[in-house]
Amino acid sequence: MKSIFRKSAKGLLTSLLLWALLVLPAQAQNSYYFPKTKNFDPNIPTPEQFLGYGIGERQTRYDRVVAYLQELARVSDKAKIETIGHTYEHRPQVILSITSPQNHGKIEQIRQEHLQLADPAKAAPALTKMPVLVHLGYNVHGNESSSTEVSMLTAYYLLANQDPETQRYLQEAVVFIDPALNPDGRDRHTNWVSMHQGNPAVSDPADREHNEVWPGGRGNHYWFDLNRDWLPIAHVESRNRLEFYHKWLPNVVIDFHEMGTNSTYYFEPSKPYSSENRLIPRSTYDGLNVLMAKYHAEALDELGSLYFTKEQYDNIYPGYGSTYPDFQGGVGITFEQASSRGNKQENSLGVLTFAFTIRNHLATGLATVKASVENRETLLRNQREFYQSALTDGRKNGVRAYVYGENFDATRLRKFTELLLAHRIEVYELDKSLSADGKKFEKGKAYVVPTEQPQYRLVESIFAKTKEFDDSVFYDASTWTLALAYNLPHAGLKSKASAGKRVTELAPTNYTLPAQSRYAYLLDWADYNAAGALYLLQDKGVITQTVFKPFTASTSTGPKAYQPGSITIPVASQKISADSLYKVIHYVAAKKQTNFESVKTGLSVQGIDLGSNNIQTLKKPEALLLTGQGITSYEAGEVWFLLDQQLHMPISKVELSSFPRLNLNRYNTIVLVNGSYNSLDKTAVERLKRWVTDGGTLITFKSASEWAIKQGIAQGKVIAAHDTASKAGARIDFANAAPTEGAQSVGGSIYEVDLDTSHPLGFGFAERKLPVYRNSTTILAPAKNPYSTVAQYTKDPWLSGYVSKGNLSKIKNSAALLVSDQGQGRVILFADNPNFRGTWYGTNRLFFNAIFFGSVIKTPGTTVAAE
Ligand SMILES: [Zn+2]
Repeated sequence: MKSIFRKSAKGLLTSLLLWALLVLPAQAQNSYYFPKTKNFDPNIPTPEQFLGYGIGERQTRYDRVVAYLQELARVSDKAKIETIGHTYEHRPQVILSITSPQNHGKIEQIRQEHLQLADPAKAAPALTKMPVLVHLGYNVHGNESSSTEVSMLTAYYLLANQDPETQRYLQEAVVFIDPALNPDGRDRHTNWVSMHQGNPAVSDPADREHNEVWPGGRGNHYWFDLNRDWLPIAHVESRNRLEFYHKWLPNVVIDFHEMGTNSTYYFEPSKPYSSENRLIPRSTYDGLNVLMAKYHAEALDELGSLYFTKEQYDNIYPGYGSTYPDFQGGVGITFEQASSRGNKQENSLGVLTFAFTIRNHLATGLATVKASVENRETLLRNQREFYQSALTDGRKNGVRAYVYGENFDATRLRKFTELLLAHRIEVYELDKSLSADGKKFEKGKAYVVPTEQPQYRLVESIFAKTKEFDDSVFYDASTWTLALAYNLPHAGLKSKASAGKRVTELAPTNYTLPAQSRYAYLLDWADYNAAGALYLLQDKGVITQTVFKPFTASTSTGPKAYQPGSITIPVASQKISADSLYKVIHYVAAKKQTNFESVKTGLSVQGIDLGSNNIQTLKKPEALLLTGQGITSYEAGEVWFLLDQQLHMPISKVELSSFPRLNLNRYNTIVLVNGSYNSLDKTAVERLKRWVTDGGTLITFKSASEWAIKQGIAQGKVIAAHDTASKAGARIDFANAAPTEGAQSVGGSIYEVDLDTSHPLGFGFAERKLPVYRNSTTILAPAKNPYSTVAQYTKDPWLSGYVSKGNLSKIKNSAALLVSDQGQGRVILFADNPNFRGTWYGTNRLFFNAIFFGSVIKTPGTTVAAE
């Protein structure tokens, strides 16, 4: 009871309301959430009647949420439910569509007319009767759990309320309820809170209920932030959602979030100019956002709930759920509610209850529906004008078309093209080979993307480099040039004349099985799928080798050139028969869609022969990833995701705290991503050192690379970043602290490095120039050993995104990738994270090389220590 006396009046009131919820029947629940509505249809079950408890009393499991929405669709002719796909953990992704029965009866016509609105090539449909489309997307961050509870109340309200105003909403709008954008993460959090929920509930912030264990429920199955994935669509949840999104192109999209427990409530508009994307028409920011904000303010004013706008949160990166809609002629809005992270928690204003957070989100969400209906024609007209202005802006753009291609890696080219098509970007075949920007683009291996197209703004986001900003402080990345992430040669053209036939879908991939051989098979390492094929071979027990020098083989289909990194599979050396091996080759070729070649002789047409000392036998990777408190869960998740999804290779995810007792003998590869490893004591560090010198391959990213150097596990030197703008003794106004200090952080920008493509870590790359993504201030000095700096930042490395002058000068000529040989083993040190957001297809090949070729690295002139 002591805490009651410390509470503010408002906190006390909130607690009393929650108490009231716990003891009163169903009607009480409605009177808390819907005090003004008396006219609910008794045939529609309330969430409380269906679930057996009141919303806000506990966390609702995702399957129960889905079951309730299914029940609503069953009992009401105003609701339809569809499954748009499944998550990694096989939870269904569902959308409940709510509109009048008349609209449901002609829903396909409504959809077609709406798409026509967004297509400048087609005549504008009449707006007077066209419904507005509102998409309410809940719980993208799994542990921001209030909003999925809101989804049930919102659906109930729209379907059960018989008041004329709600009937008007249903006639003039179609509302999509997306109850959880991240069902797997939501349930991770739901289970955590439920298993620790006390009776009575414990409000102490230190209680386990409010403190999830690593990695928490924010991310999806692979610990990724799905609210960064709308553009890269690395994940199945995002691909399913994007497919649904483009079927409808909603006019208003709400992305529901939670923020710190001591905060209040946030809605857009975001910070003018600096948080906004320059490609988006000002009418979205100055018109629609302001228009909608009035309704959201009014809803919270009525509840007496505090809020803020404009001060923080980016609206600049098209990968956010509230920004992508701005790129599609809609208005996307972020709502942030202070989180009770559990059922109730003390904060600076008293005690924040789950029910209170739910009621705020409910109020703003329903205000969104009202705002959308009352401004229906404005929103529809805006969408029409948005796509028209995309054509005019694209026509005025200095670059009239982008050409991109890839001459050696068909898989990477294909994956990028699939990404463009998923975003409904117009892509054309290149009609004849051309050179631009010093690069050669070959017909059949290159595509053209004109800027004059409805998706002009996404095209610019994906291809153009950005170096000018309205601000220097970023909440997240400041660049997202995906053409660089995929390391695809590309160039801007002054005309779109080279565009040939439009590509609407790609032909299915195919592979050609080589003739059976009694001597050897060859696999080209340049193809992105080769790494997955190699693992599959190794997993089947096949002996594999890699070549260090180029050669031209006399294959069964004629002479073919092979670059370093190519895989050779000698037939007679295998433990299985030639016939069995051929079956395995066939299986792998089909599974990974890769082309093997066969040779009958070891004598090459040119270069080394197949028994050369420049060919080394590979070891199957037995990999370990350290995870747990202190380690960056996104980066750990990216490693897991890539190995799982691209290579189908298992990796043991071991808690940092179990490392001291772990038998390391079963692993030959250990990955340490960014994070703090200070909890490993001297004995643990010595064990790791011994494991490396005994022949292990240790791969480190960012701060883990710094740690390995400082512990003497690897040789190297860390350069101090330019982390503060204020010189000692300088005097700066307090109010300027955030912009001054924030400007020094490296939020996420892209640089060029020079890669030694003759080094095993550089195998498979056709070019020495490679774009890398940097979002940390780990800066490493080049090694003293001339062969150890595998990749180095160039002297003018800045390609795109924000960086301070001070940090740029330190990054220039620094090391991007180092190898430090230690006894029989080696440490491979990345200054950056090569696997950023699962979408850096260029640099994640470096990581694959480290995994597969680490064991064959022997640096010449080694044991020369760097300073
Ligand atoms: Zn969030």
